[in-house]
Amino acid sequence: LPILDVKGVGKTYELNGLKIEALRDANLTVKKGEFVCLIGASGCGKSTLLRIVAGFEVPSSGEALMWDKPVTGPAPDRGMVFQDYGLFPWLTVRQNIGFGPASRGLPKKVVKETADRFVNMVGLNRFADAWPHQLSGGMKQRVAIARVLANDADMVLMDEPFGALDAMTRERLQDELLDIWQRTQLTVLFVTHSIEEAIFLADRVVVMEPGPGRIASEYRIELPRP
Ligand code: ADP
Ligand code: ADP
Repeated sequence: LPILDVKGVGKTYELNGLKIEALRDANLTVKKGEFVCLIGASGCGKSTLLRIVAGFEVPSSGEALMWDKPVTGPAPDRGMVFQDYGLFPWLTVRQNIGFGPASRGLPKKVVKETADRFVNMVGLNRFADAWPHQLSGGMKQRVAIARVLANDADMVLMDEPFGALDAMTRERLQDELLDIWQRTQLTVLFVTHSIEEAIFLADRVVVMEPGPGRIASEYRIELPRP
């Protein structure tokens, strides 16, 4: 059973009475533990597809299934990591990571244990009590991913998280992301328009056609992992 099954998804936006077809008949399955990169020209519907999977957007046709259940809205099983990481500046690293469990009303002790487990998992033990502004970009990314994982996410969704960065920082963060992915065996659906980035990161690259976003082809990257 795939973790994610996107079946014949279409999306048409209305803008000032104008209809804009962003997606047509998009089909995509993702297996648990896969790192899938979705690439395609700007405007071909990558973000739209990711937002539908996240539950931020409702498809006009077709459906997205998580573990065989239709996606009807945002839920902790699919965590989005935003480009600016969206950490809460008034919370420490441990509190940011424990935010989901805490807001679910779990006992304090359980929240702390859960937070500490994920703090360790992403290698931030020494920074558990640090504040977001004290962290490097790579460390913020680790916190953002740990926060998603501590909230019981099965899958992490990332929309061009490194798009705005200089090449050196981008390479460092790509390394960090692969390191976390290897430690945690999480499932990642990653949108990018960079072929280099997709080939570096992904197990599988899914290419979307320009135009109304039909998924044209898939390539499996066979390079051995370091
Ligand atoms: P990509 O991520 O591949 O660049 P998007 O999914 O952002 O593509 O956009 C696909 C198409 O849908 C584009 O033509 C874009 O202008 C349009 N679109 C995206 N979001 C909206 C929206 N909220 N309202 C109207 N049109 C939108
Ligand atoms: P990254 O590759 O994550 O962007 P940097 O090169 O900025 O990392 O930082 C390298 C190391 O320096 C980090 O792993 C961390 O141990 C340490 N470091 C970075 N920022 C701080 C800080 N504000 N306070 C203490 N140590 C830091």
